[in-house]
Amino acid sequence: MHAIHQRVALILMIVAGLTSHRLCAQDWSKVEVQTVRLTDSVYVLAGAGGTMAVLVGEDGPLLVDSGYKETAEKTAAAVKAITDKPIRLVINTHWHFDHVGGNEALVKAGAIIIAHENVRKQMSADRHVAVIDTDVPASPPAARPAITFADSLTLHWNGEDVRIMHVPNAHTDGDSMVFFSKANVLHMGDTWFNGMYTFMDINAGGSLDGVIRAFDLALTLADDTTVIIPGHGPKADVAGLREYRTMLVTVRDRVRALKAQGKTRDEVIAAKPTKEYDAKWGQSWLDPDTWVGLIFDTMKLPSSRSERARPVRVPTD
Ligand SMILES: [Zn+2]
Repeated sequence: MHAIHQRVALILMIVAGLTSHRLCAQDWSKVEVQTVRLTDSVYVLAGAGGTMAVLVGEDGPLLVDSGYKETAEKTAAAVKAITDKPIRLVINTHWHFDHVGGNEALVKAGAIIIAHENVRKQMSADRHVAVIDTDVPASPPAARPAITFADSLTLHWNGEDVRIMHVPNAHTDGDSMVFFSKANVLHMGDTWFNGMYTFMDINAGGSLDGVIRAFDLALTLADDTTVIIPGHGPKADVAGLREYRTMLVTVRDRVRALKAQGKTRDEVIAAKPTKEYDAKWGQSWLDPDTWVGLIFDTMKLPSSRSERARPVRVPTD
């Protein structure tokens, strides 16, 4: 009963978050940040946007993502409850408002924002997210990442090697995964919505092939003791990662085969390529038909070598 309760709460939270730009009825005063300690140095903060990670130590806290703008004070208070040191660094896994909303307040308090260069680009102009029919205005300059990178970046911080790796065209065109290699904790950003179908933002260059590449990279990093933090949904392990990847590849191959046969978008959706997975992953805000339509729309049939996926480079230092 408790698990079901948590799941319903999570779904409501995501739906509330994703629709908050359209509905003004969201009661931010009711949002609570839940803090969970994963290791000696790594915590997660959940409930105020995408799941955040906090790395603590001598150099001062480093945050992965900053949650909603409206709950930035609650996020800062949750970090303060862990450590007295001021937040120094914030990594954004991608540009969506439930992951970068707290940036401006954190910068005003002295933090520096780090992200893939496409996160800065996406945050610098007005955007539209079609699947939730939401316009997202450009972020103020102070909220945009001050440090950007093209491929990967390693931070040596709080005694940890923090490896930030870009995965092209997955949930968006600017996703990064963050690996705390000593603590053995991997934050996957929104390349994984655990417990539900993973949303690809087609207006921002998302694709299922990219999401699968993110899973492949995660599987090269994770071992049996790695703790995995998805952008939404409960924490996971490598077994959960493998199970979800199998589903992604099966559905991708089915949709690709139907598309190659010349089936239309409606025909592919009607063929129910996700059917045996819907009981487990299709009960959340992104229903199976919408997800299959997104896969269809973002899928290009490989017609030449140049269109095939390029491998993701894993930094070694
Ligand atoms: Zn997102």
